[in-house]
This record gives sequence, C-alpha cells and structure tokens, in this order.
Amino acid sequence: MIIEARGLSRSYGRTPALREADLAVGAGEIVAVMGPSGAGKSTLLHCLAGIFTPDSGEVWFRGDRLDTMSDARRTELRRTAFGFVFQFGQLVPELTVADNVALPMLLGRTRRKEAYGRAGEWLERLGLGELGGRRTSELSGGQAQRVAVARALVTGPRVLFADEPTGALDSLAGEQVMELLVGLAREEGTTVIVVTHDARVAAFADREVIVRDGRLTDPYAERNSACAG
Ligand code: ADP
Ligand code: ADP
Repeated sequence: MIIEARGLSRSYGRTPALREADLAVGAGEIVAVMGPSGAGKSTLLHCLAGIFTPDSGEVWFRGDRLDTMSDARRTELRRTAFGFVFQFGQLVPELTVADNVALPMLLGRTRRKEAYGRAGEWLERLGLGELGGRRTSELSGGQAQRVAVARALVTGPRVLFADEPTGALDSLAGEQVMELLVGLAREEGTTVIVVTHDARVAAFADREVIVRDGRLTDPYAERNSACAG
C-alpha cells in the first residue's frame, strides 16, 4: 500500500464530516471516491493529502505517519511526492501557460532553462504545445484543466489527488481531461485518488469507494451483502 487511512475521524465544530474511515490504496492504483454532496469526500482527500489533520485516526504514506509528522516535513512531502488537481481556478491567470507548468519546478529550485524545457515537453505531450505563450485566461475550461494536469504531474509525484477535476466542464471536455489524467498516470506509475460525483469519471478508475455520512463503503461488498441478504 502506498497510502492508507486508518479510522479517520474529523469534525467541523459539531458537524462530523468523517467517521472512522479506512482506505488503503496500492501503488499505481486509480481510485474514485464517490458519494453525495456533503458526504465527506473532500475532507477525506484533504486528510489523506496532509492538508487537514484528522481529529483521530492515522494516515500512512509509504511507511511514514503523515498526520503526526512535523509541518515542515509534511509540506516538503506535499511538494515533492503529491500532485493536486482541483475543480477550478488553480492556474495563475497573470502568467502564461508555460509559466504555470514551470512554476512548481521553479519553486523547487529547478533552473529556469530546465524547468521551461520540461514544461514545453509536457505541453507537447498534451497536444497543447502551441499554447505555451498564451495567458491561461485565454484557454477554454478543458484546456485549462489539461494544463492543470500537466502542472500537477510535471514534478513526478507518487500520488495525484484530484477533487472534482471535471466538475466545471461539459462531458466531452471532462472525458478528455480524465483520459489524459489516467493515461499519464499509468505511463508514470502515479497513484490517483479522484473525488467525483460523476459515474463517467469514476469509470476511468480501477476501483471505486463510496462515502456516505462520513463513512466509507465498498460498493462491491455492499452489493454482495445485499445479494446474500
Ligand atoms: P463532500 O466533499 O462529500 O461534498 P465535505 O468533505 O466537503 O463533503 O463536507 C463534509 C461535511 O462537512 C458536510 O456536512 C459539510 O457541510 C461540512 N463541512 C465541510 N467543510 C466545512 C467547513 N469548512 N466548515 C464547516 N463545515 C464544513
Ligand atoms: P469553456 O466553456 O470555454 O470550455 P469554461 O466556461 O469552463 O470554458 O471556463 C470559463 C473560463 O474560466 C475560461 O476562459 C477559463 O480561462 C477559465 N477557467 C476554467 N477552468 C479554469 C481553471 N482550472 N483554472 C483557471 N481558469 C480556468
């Protein structure tokens, strides 16, 4: 297992958002986290990614406890081992497409020439080679999300966290983004945890889990017990 949640609970004030959630994800696996709005999907993702600390329970990443590690180490891990794609608005609109893709490498102190070289290669790979000099505000929603996928993967993360990555797109653009995300993740051996309420997005995953009322259920186990009952 590359990443694992054990008995995770988290509340906002008196609102419980996650209740003793367990999830184990293998290296290279693509897992869709589904469930209704307000079920706790984003909270689970943020706890797994070390963005939120759970109230109780444990998060393990490659044999290390993420939830008890120092802030400095966790920040470093997030920068080097994790990639993120969100629904909307994650690109810096004042910068060009190439700047946006190069940005995480520049923040990681990669030399400019190498960072822009790699950004260019990734944009070619995405079929966006000719858009490098454009402002991101000139892109369609689908193009912007493909750039966001490139930016999330360019540093070679072990785990890619995606929260409703196609939520702001029409279904064709959404499918193209998922094809790209899953295709690149497979080529790179990246583990993907994608939160979605869209069954067409979940269809790209190896496995789906469902969050309801802060609890995680495995749909296959549920279906089997329904048959047995
Ligand atoms: P999902 O991603 O499945 O829509 P969330 O993890 O965002 O669910 O939310 C789970 C629960 O926690 C919901 O009841 C939501 O209203 C509540 N919640 C989420 N974020 C906050 C917050 N910042 N403050 C208070 N309650 C929140
Ligand atoms: P379209 O319908 O042309 O595909 P959208 O309506 O989805 O585009 O998006 C409207 C605008 O929002 C676009 O011009 C785009 O620049 C911007 N946009 C969409 N997604 C993102 C994102 N993830 N980051 C930054 N800007 C975005």
